[in-house]
Amino acid sequence: MQVLQGIAVSPGIAIGEALVIEKEGYVFSRRSFEHEAVDEELARLDRATDAVAAEIERDRQVIAAQLGDQYGAIFSAHHQMLRDAHLRAEMEELIRRQNMTAELAVHQTLRRCARVFQDMPNSFLAERALDLHDLEQRLLNHLLDRGHEWLLDLDAPTIVLAHDLTPSETARLDRRWVRGFVTEEGGEGGHTAILARGLELPAVVGAGQVLTEVVSGDLVIVDGDQGVLIVRPTKEYLSRYRQQLKRRSSRLEALAALRDLPAQTLDGTTVRLLANIEFPHELSACLERGADGIGLYRTEFLYLSAESEPTEEEHFQAYREVVEAMEQRPVVIRTLDLGADKMWYRSSAEDEHNPFLGLRSIRLSLRNVDVFRTQLRAILRASALGPVKILFPLIATLRELRQAKLFLRETMEDLDEAGIAFNHHIAVGMMVEVPAAVMMIDYFLKEVDFISIGTNDLIQYALAVDRSNKEVAELYQACDPAVLRLIQTSLCAAQAAGVPASVCGQMSSIPHCVLLLLGLGLTEFSVPPGAILEVKRVCRGVTIEQCRHIVQTALQMQGPLEIDTYLKEELKKLVPQAVR
Ligand code: PEP
Ligand code: MG
Repeated sequence: MQVLQGIAVSPGIAIGEALVIEKEGYVFSRRSFEHEAVDEELARLDRATDAVAAEIERDRQVIAAQLGDQYGAIFSAHHQMLRDAHLRAEMEELIRRQNMTAELAVHQTLRRCARVFQDMPNSFLAERALDLHDLEQRLLNHLLDRGHEWLLDLDAPTIVLAHDLTPSETARLDRRWVRGFVTEEGGEGGHTAILARGLELPAVVGAGQVLTEVVSGDLVIVDGDQGVLIVRPTKEYLSRYRQQLKRRSSRLEALAALRDLPAQTLDGTTVRLLANIEFPHELSACLERGADGIGLYRTEFLYLSAESEPTEEEHFQAYREVVEAMEQRPVVIRTLDLGADKMWYRSSAEDEHNPFLGLRSIRLSLRNVDVFRTQLRAILRASALGPVKILFPLIATLRELRQAKLFLRETMEDLDEAGIAFNHHIAVGMMVEVPAAVMMIDYFLKEVDFISIGTNDLIQYALAVDRSNKEVAELYQACDPAVLRLIQTSLCAAQAAGVPASVCGQMSSIPHCVLLLLGLGLTEFSVPPGAILEVKRVCRGVTIEQCRHIVQTALQMQGPLEIDTYLKEELKKLVPQAVR
């Protein structure tokens, strides 16, 4: 058994067979075959072996011609390994006795052997592990397809283990079969992590060297509460986790009982609990939890899950589905927030050195006016069907906000001319997620109908910490006093100006942070659907007075960990059931 620690990003526990997606994108979706097909499987292995032998020989000749025979000799080591009788016997045994597919037999045999070399103190021998990896990849190249088909090609419950998953890959996970995932890379605020919460999949990111420890088919446990991956658990661990799963489901039942109770603090303040969604298919989860509306619809996922650029009609149909399902409850549609870790098409932006500081979000929309107008038309058309609001992301300067609003006005004129119905008084808001916007908040508040504080980015830009980089994950702290001051400034200014404000970053769904946000005067939270009832439970267990007192104490502290610990202690005292 092995326990690997990562970052907990989406709560829950999943137990099941691993599906390893190699760094190079290989996947072993077929693990076994019908017993009668042994000869066929061995023939596949033979064909792949012959093809790799030819490939190695070609490489040897090329290198020998360029650098001389002595360099070409490097490849004879590969040849020897490829034709090694022991390795071949091991693979054959797996295929014959366990009906393991040729690719999995290659993977397991060569990985096992590479691990033996890797652990050798002699560095020369340890480096032979690289040759074995190389050989494995060559063979898999001939035995497996690469690409994204694996995301759609599952037929059994699976836990996906990958070096990294992009948000669009995560968006395409087959939710019928994927029970959870773990990645070697990634940070708490990355969009992959956010999607996991939206999909309600237990997930751990930034877990380091996972792929060298696990092979497809291994039994694994993902503990999304503790941020742990357990590989090949012992019987004791397994039964402990099975019990935990039972306890968890009774906790969820208790939470479900809160659905129709008001989100009201003990001293009578009503809190509005809206949902963040990425896809219309999350609507049922929102309705199940009694969401007061959609506080953030991340429309860029329409692009990330599509093969081609969505048309105005496709935008409109998606928005219509959301608006109609919410039955006159507000729906905040955010314009595209593509770029940085949410790339859709290959563009020069991919070559940016600092994509999070680059052509992202509203900047991209303002540069691609046709794409922007298409979306604005669809949002406006949807506004004729219910209380739709429009939200511009990543606004850093007044000029950007004004430009975006100008495009909106022009689009309204076009629709008027064409006689298309829409709400002429649609509420227009901006995300507050760049410290510059906080510094200028009094000016912004004169030009918007509402603000939504995006703490995921605000933390990243305030602390200069890439939200999806595991190397700096420890520095990414929602409770950093600098972040708290930025939130406080925004909320106070909004209150003074009489402009409604909400917080839609992940922070607003963390139970101990809810205390803080209530104390700072927040009464509208927008959280992943799966977190609505948890936030409601915290709200119902405290008074605003208690929360204000907590804020006063917290704001005198100087470090995030001190604040974090203090808030957790207070939560334990006030709402012990909410402690994870
Ligand atoms: C945020 O930055 O807090 C936010 C809600 O937007 P996103 O996570 O989509 O960047
Ligand atoms: Mg953001």
